[in-house]
Amino acid sequence: MLRLAYGLRRHFFVVPLWNPVSVLTANLSSRSSSPQRVLAAVASLSAISSRLPSSSSSSLFVVRWPQTHHFLGRMERLWTNGSLGRNKELVERLQLYGIIKSKKVAEVMEAIDRGLFVPPGSAPYVDTPILIGYNATISAPHMHAACLELLREHLQPGMRALDVGSGTGYLTACFAMMVGPEGRTVGVEHIAELVDFSINNIKNSAASSFLKEGSLSVHIADGREGWPDLAPYDAIHVGAAAPEIPQPLIDQLKPGGRLVIPVGTVFQDLQVIDKKTDGSVSIRSETSVRYVPLTSKAAQLQSN
Ligand code: SAH
Repeated sequence: MLRLAYGLRRHFFVVPLWNPVSVLTANLSSRSSSPQRVLAAVASLSAISSRLPSSSSSSLFVVRWPQTHHFLGRMERLWTNGSLGRNKELVERLQLYGIIKSKKVAEVMEAIDRGLFVPPGSAPYVDTPILIGYNATISAPHMHAACLELLREHLQPGMRALDVGSGTGYLTACFAMMVGPEGRTVGVEHIAELVDFSINNIKNSAASSFLKEGSLSVHIADGREGWPDLAPYDAIHVGAAAPEIPQPLIDQLKPGGRLVIPVGTVFQDLQVIDKKTDGSVSIRSETSVRYVPLTSKAAQLQSN
């Protein structure tokens, strides 16, 4: 594999490892141009990926070859300025892996370009979480897709959605696209700078009109309290792992509504909570995940 990859040195190459979903990218320095150095770089990436504080283990390493830096540097700038073509390819890969199941989720993820929601210089179209500062990450695309699929029936036009720990605003924008102008989407994030970042990202995206017309808003608040002003919600998503399910979020769920939340500390499960029409709730675990914690602002900023 490495011999083949080394032969492809004028391009970037992909080294498949254990799980066909996630992808980690890395720039190799110009001193890394021997196969031995590539092996060492891949090994260190593996170590880094296992420590990534977020929602996926990494499995495919896209290694950029030194000779391609100039070309890829230009590509990356294009991508981060938003490239619907590259974004479409990402969506197609997620469909191929069976993570995106519905036409609706594919359409929305195609329309909301992930390249507009990541810090400059990062690679938005690979399936990995990306650090966004303040000890937070934008979740990996496969987690965004999985959560959109889980909430799809609860994000019909006209419905209400709450995105707790809205971070970059990526999923908030997707929710707004799904519930449409007659619906209502609220993002809640406790880091003021990330709220500004997300509003700016959304303004540049296909969801900007919802922000302008008021069916989408993002607020600085402790998401563990939800956002009572606009409750009850048909769909609630939490983008950070809670030690246990916050009661206010259950209280703010509409009968018939669904809450998707990662729960746990070291070991975390993505839990799906359905509120039945009689007000009782059912809870099931969807899959194991790794998210940043849903915590106080002080604790988050301290945890380095
Ligand atoms: N879905 C977001 C995830 C961002 S990471 C995205 O993909 O962009 C999780 C976010 O939760 C971080 O931005 C973090 O600041 C926020 N967060 C953590 N605890 C919080 C709390 N108690 N209240 C509000 N936001 C919180």
